[in-house]
Amino acid sequence: MTAETSYRGLVLVVEDEPAIADLVRLYLTRDGFGVQMERDGEAGLSAARRLRPVVCVLDIALPGLPGTEICRRLREAGDWTPVIFLTARDDEVDRIVGLELGADDYVTKPFSPRELVARVRAVLRRAAGPDGAEQPRVVGAVTLDPARRTVTAAGAPVQLTSTEFDLLAHLMARPGRVFSREELLAGVWGYAAHAGTRTVDVHVAQVRAKLGPASVIRTHRGVGYAVDA
Ligand code: CA
Repeated sequence: MTAETSYRGLVLVVEDEPAIADLVRLYLTRDGFGVQMERDGEAGLSAARRLRPVVCVLDIALPGLPGTEICRRLREAGDWTPVIFLTARDDEVDRIVGLELGADDYVTKPFSPRELVARVRAVLRRAAGPDGAEQPRVVGAVTLDPARRTVTAAGAPVQLTSTEFDLLAHLMARPGRVFSREELLAGVWGYAAHAGTRTVDVHVAQVRAKLGPASVIRTHRGVGYAVDA
């Protein structure tokens, strides 16, 4: 296999222990990934923002910023690049999950480099979705990630119910398209049109309230709703 045909994208690895960093770089490179290494948290965050890697592999205990803080800041900015944490202890895992940082996976040290490569490939498969249709949607200051079912407004996470999420996702799938209440009922709720349309208005109002000033949902009087194109 040539480097050209097997190239899988750039992985950012932030790890301050040279022996581990070298091993990870070797295995990822062998598997066809480009690798950018950083040794401290500030440089890692800067590289993540600048280089747009396909996956970030973040050690937790780092000089400067901990890996968890790098992830938190990326997520706050609406960056959902898959993140895999390297943890030093099993008991750190509960903390990572409990922090709800939007981590995609973790590997506990000492780990097999092959295992890490397998995890990197797995998060990329999940992130890609079945046909690329699961890519995050961005309208104005609102970002919606269908794969993770997350929404941010002006960089801040927004907690939507399942139905509210599906409603916003439906509208954001086709910015500028005006959907009638009947179409939304059928498409989101799966109801027949005669089931009543008041519920659509109620849910739209709730989504708008949660998005706040960043709301991108517009009312088209006598027609229905759309998000800004
Ligand atoms: Ca470390």
